[in-house]
Amino acid sequence: MSATTAPASAHGATDAHVLDALIIGAGFSGLYQLHALRDRLGLSAQVLEAGDGVGGTWYWNRYPGARCDSESHSYAYYFSDELVQEWTWSERYPGQAEILRYLNHVADRFDLKRDIRFGARVTEAHYDAAANRWHVRTEAGERYTATYLITAVGCLSAANIPQIPGLDSFAGQWYHTGQWPHEGVDFTGKRVGMVGTGSTGIQAAPVIADSAAHLTVFQRTANYSIPARNAPLAEEFKHWAKQNASEIKRTMRSTPNGHPFVIADRSAHDVSEAERRAIYEAAWEKGGLQFRASFRDLLQDKAANDTAAAFLRSKIGEIVKDPATAAKLAAIDHPFATKRPPIDTGYFETFNRDNVALVDVRATPIERVTPAGIQTRDGTEYPLDIIVFATGFDAMTGPLLKMDIRGRDDVSLRDAWQAGPRTYLGLQVPGFPNLFTITGPGSPSVLCNMPVPIEHHVEWIADCIRTMRENGIARIEAKPEAAEKWVEHVNDAANATLLPQAGHSWYLGANVPGKPRVFMPYAGGMARYRDICADVVARNYEGFSLTR
Ligand code: NAP
Repeated sequence: MSATTAPASAHGATDAHVLDALIIGAGFSGLYQLHALRDRLGLSAQVLEAGDGVGGTWYWNRYPGARCDSESHSYAYYFSDELVQEWTWSERYPGQAEILRYLNHVADRFDLKRDIRFGARVTEAHYDAAANRWHVRTEAGERYTATYLITAVGCLSAANIPQIPGLDSFAGQWYHTGQWPHEGVDFTGKRVGMVGTGSTGIQAAPVIADSAAHLTVFQRTANYSIPARNAPLAEEFKHWAKQNASEIKRTMRSTPNGHPFVIADRSAHDVSEAERRAIYEAAWEKGGLQFRASFRDLLQDKAANDTAAAFLRSKIGEIVKDPATAAKLAAIDHPFATKRPPIDTGYFETFNRDNVALVDVRATPIERVTPAGIQTRDGTEYPLDIIVFATGFDAMTGPLLKMDIRGRDDVSLRDAWQAGPRTYLGLQVPGFPNLFTITGPGSPSVLCNMPVPIEHHVEWIADCIRTMRENGIARIEAKPEAAEKWVEHVNDAANATLLPQAGHSWYLGANVPGKPRVFMPYAGGMARYRDICADVVARNYEGFSLTR
């Protein structure tokens, strides 16, 4: 359904496009939300998307080696059986280009693109209490007005580009992995410096090293990594995944992280040292995030975690030939999986190449970028032609706070969240009626295989809007006391795990200077969270104010 155009309003929204629902972002979340609201509920709905195509994170993150860490048969929508049956993934982990093809296929299959405005970056969204409408404006000055505003902006879409003195003076090229040029970057014959060793840097380094003349990896925090063991999928597996789609969906929806495997029901202390080693060896050989599921207490019990950490450190020592480099790579200062654990294809092996060097910038921090390269505090200058910033994102709150969102009484979201994000269920913010935040802070989101929490939120929001319309409810708004309690619960859930022990993690906002340190995702598990949300609905939207 397309928007109608309204005359001037009291808010000054001249020639605004008038809609029931406006969705910001055309990634996994926005596409499904459009389908759910437009095709199932019959609402007039529109997506505004900053990029020139669908895909969200997969539209922007085109860096070398970009690939998902969730296994392909689980990194997909499960809301349509037909869709599951007609799409076939080619590899164990889907690459960026294949995911983008998949999302384009979904958009075309459900005829979504006609209601997506591409190249439309939202700059402001203001709530008009008198009209009970959201007034939205894009960078190009286009105006929209809608009853419901749904942010589908992703958790990891605001690039964190470090403010290093002298960057402007660099004579070569520099790139952030999350804003990668569509035409690609030719590293042939170049001296490349890569800053950052999170999931992104760990994926990119081996691929860059393959074509660059030289690669210098600037590591601030050493990281665990497990081999992905990516490979083309066997025909039998493809067949099995389709035949067992319902079972796979059930498993994903019943596990804490939304992955298609269950966590072993045993403690790391239940087995002998030799058995434990054999279990870790088997998980290492199998590869992937399933390693974390070897024992049920790896994220709760430090002594249990230490066994996994020691195993993974020993693997670095076995792979990396130069003992000094191996020691730097294995000097990991946080428990295993308290930062999002990367999985890799030949990451540690890359440091055995003659054209790769590791610089420990915890010991000697980067001081400045010079016209010729990167200079560290000890005065060493590393000559570079290209700098790659694999430095992550202003996660979860960043994409929302980049827009000027104002709720009741003109209060901005930035002010409301000065001390950190305060949401109810990660779905709504007190003072911001009819605003829904898909996988917002305070929801399980990034601790999960993302399509699972996304499908849950999209369906919860669509059901909520349907209920509102059927019952003549004009406005839904989280109660401040419900949000207060939820924030406490989110903190308690994090504190029941080892997760807060990685003091510099982006889960805590610690990677962005000046950002309040608050553990943002809900660590109580997706299955438990799903039950909580269902319970809230069963109690007539307990914790929300519903106004006729
Ligand atoms: P990240 O995990 O935040 O890693 C950023 C890296 O840059 C860290 O090593 C960080 O060091 C370093 N860094 C940041 N600022 C720096 C500075 N000023 N000087 C030196 N080093 C600096 O970001 P990411 O690797 O892009 O990953 C973010 C998340 O995206 C992942 O955790 C994951 O959830 C998702 N992701 C998923 C996939 C996948 O599924 N395959 C791939 C990529 C990303 P510190 O640790 O010291 O801060």
